[in-house]
Amino acid sequence: LLDAAGELSSTVFEEMSFLSARTGATNLGQGFPDVDGPPEMLEAAAAALRGGVNQYAPIAGLPVLREAVAEHQRRFYGIGLDPASEVVVTAGATEGLAASLLAFLEPGDEVVTFAPHYDAYGAVVEFAGARLVTVPLLPPAFAPDPDGLRAAFGPRTRMVILNDPHNPTGAVLDDAVLELVAELAEEHDCVVVTDEVYEHLRYTGAHRPLACRPAAAERTLTVSSVGKTFSATGWRVGWVTGPAPLLRAVQATKAYLSHSAAAPLQAATAAALALPDAFYAGLLEDYRRRRDVLLAGLAAAGAEAFEPQGSFFVVADVGALCARHGVPDAAALSRVLPEAAGVVAIPVTAFVPAPQQDVYRDWLRFAFCKRTDVLEQAMGRLAG
Ligand code: PMP
Ligand code: GLN
Repeated sequence: LLDAAGELSSTVFEEMSFLSARTGATNLGQGFPDVDGPPEMLEAAAAALRGGVNQYAPIAGLPVLREAVAEHQRRFYGIGLDPASEVVVTAGATEGLAASLLAFLEPGDEVVTFAPHYDAYGAVVEFAGARLVTVPLLPPAFAPDPDGLRAAFGPRTRMVILNDPHNPTGAVLDDAVLELVAELAEEHDCVVVTDEVYEHLRYTGAHRPLACRPAAAERTLTVSSVGKTFSATGWRVGWVTGPAPLLRAVQATKAYLSHSAAAPLQAATAAALALPDAFYAGLLEDYRRRRDVLLAGLAAAGAEAFEPQGSFFVVADVGALCARHGVPDAAALSRVLPEAAGVVAIPVTAFVPAPQQDVYRDWLRFAFCKRTDVLEQAMGRLAG
């Protein structure tokens, strides 16, 4: 967790939010919405706070939320879960991931994932004394090469981490990749942890968790949270679902991380998950509109974006902007853009292990979880 200068680091997301606060630039760096989630959910939180739901929740989570998560998995994916043994509530997906990794990894184990990848994977794998082995997602399609994926597995592989839809690229995994992961995981007897926090932000096709495949389900832990779907990243409520024998280990681990997530917010999250289909459809349409505003703005500014099929991020080749601002790469551009254009964005290299960063040196990630007028103004300034 040391940065290039050997100092204990903050996360790139927090650094970018501090930069935005200091300069007043629009924060398209750290991914969090600039509006509140559904009023029914906020009312349910207020009612729970005032209604005495203020003491420890059970370590596995409030029964009402575990039931709501099980019902959500049934309703959207046809996955049947026993809420008492196959759902554990966590403090955000962050704790869900940490507990899932720490429960199964031993020093010297290898964990296969794609790169770029979300920063927490590398940090927690390191906490466990294990080693991340990454398979590159390369432009223009950001899809893994099947042979590369196969070659990443070896005798020490203990786990695979998938993130679908994917942060930062906005790519989604196709059936052939999911099938291959399921096959390799079985062959190497691995646990698969799938991070699906963007499950409801999918612009093409329908999201289908790996756990829908019966052969994979017995070794798959599915992680999600309230943050993205219900615009409540500060609530720190998430969950892990999967087979009871695996979840017992996750639960035993998370007991000594957070103990339990905020009780009143768990109750409110249960109310949110039960919202009708119209809520989920409306969310997706809102995000599709914002995505299109950002894509049009980036094109007008001379950036070449990858059209995301999921998530609320766009990655774009900003080589032309680097030239216009007289800087060598996207990392340098991310440091001048706040003052020059009032925009904060994150260099994609922040998501990639050092030896593989070169291909992404002209790429920036922009978050579009902001109001369309905010996005339009920011893109107007970027185009200069
Ligand atoms: N996984 C991915 C891919 C993310 O982008 C994020 C954060 N936005 C998380 C996990 C963490 O989610 P949470 O805020 O629920 O801890
Ligand atoms: N997931 C968010 C992002 O990628 C950030 C979450 C965090 O700050 N850890 O922007």
